[in-house]
Amino acid sequence: MSKPIRCTTCGALMREGHGPYHYRECGLSNVWLADIEIHPCTGCDNVGYGIWRIESLHRAIAEAVIHKRTRLRGEEVRFLRKSLGWSGAEFARHMGVAVETVSRWETDAMPIGPQADRLLRLLVAQGHLTTMYPTDRLREIDATRATAPRLTLEATRTSWRLKTA
Ligand SMILES: [Zn+2]
Repeated sequence: MSKPIRCTTCGALMREGHGPYHYRECGLSNVWLADIEIHPCTGCDNVGYGIWRIESLHRAIAEAVIHKRTRLRGEEVRFLRKSLGWSGAEFARHMGVAVETVSRWETDAMPIGPQADRLLRLLVAQGHLTTMYPTDRLREIDATRATAPRLTLEATRTSWRLKTA
């Protein structure tokens, strides 16, 4: 048997149990965890929940969200933005929109547009590559100019690569 758990609030023993959990803490209203440890306190109304490997859990939720077939809802935009580790201002810079626009998306005051919706999903989809492909560069795109510098590609033995000047 596992070691008895004591309540961090009142010190009483906590009962052993498990069951489904409506995981509102993630910021999404529609996420349930199928079968987690649930420990109600025998002395007060404190309840302990065993939710482990949060990073993996949030990654799985993010994957599910980016694969949905309908437009992202405000709370989903916020969840994905946070899963990228960005503040509202950082997110706005990456998406090339005003901070107020992000706020409107996240509060459902305005639906996210189809292009921004797709871009956000792609950013999350390759989130694990952010150290290899610095998305910081997205913030530096100058929307006032459209230039066409020459791109020269050279063949190596196994692939092609961009030749630097
Ligand atoms: Zn207690």
